[in-house]
Amino acid sequence: MDLITKIKTLAKDQSAKILAMRHHLHSQPELSFQEFETSKYVAETLRSFGLQPQTGIANTGLVALIEGRNPSAKVIALRADMDALPIVEANDVPYKSKNPGVMHACGHDVHTSSLLGTANILYQLRHEFEGTVKLIFQPGEEKAPGGAS
Ligand SMILES: [Zn+2]
Repeated sequence: MDLITKIKTLAKDQSAKILAMRHHLHSQPELSFQEFETSKYVAETLRSFGLQPQTGIANTGLVALIEGRNPSAKVIALRADMDALPIVEANDVPYKSKNPGVMHACGHDVHTSSLLGTANILYQLRHEFEGTVKLIFQPGEEKAPGGAS
């Protein structure tokens, strides 16, 4: 099986798990630079995959490295933002915000869960590609200056 097919197969296998992560994150939104529980959740999830995240970057940000074969050959970075917005959620869904007045209305719950799913897949396949993948979980994207500066 080629690498693309393996990635697609793992992505399909994990889609329910990634959706559950997205719903969890959606229900626990936190404002910019206050992503304390989100950061903890991301760190624990990455550790459960076997990764060793560096935490506390700009307080709530994280970075994790997936080293493939010949890790210094090249490095690519994949980034997701983690903060939510000061909006009251009007949706009536089982995973509705449990933090009144704060909502993942900009999709950062999707970004974060997608990068977690990607982390799990690429870590499992790390012996099959060259170089290093740097995962960046960025705080405070909704603020200027934000967590990318
Ligand atoms: Zn946004």
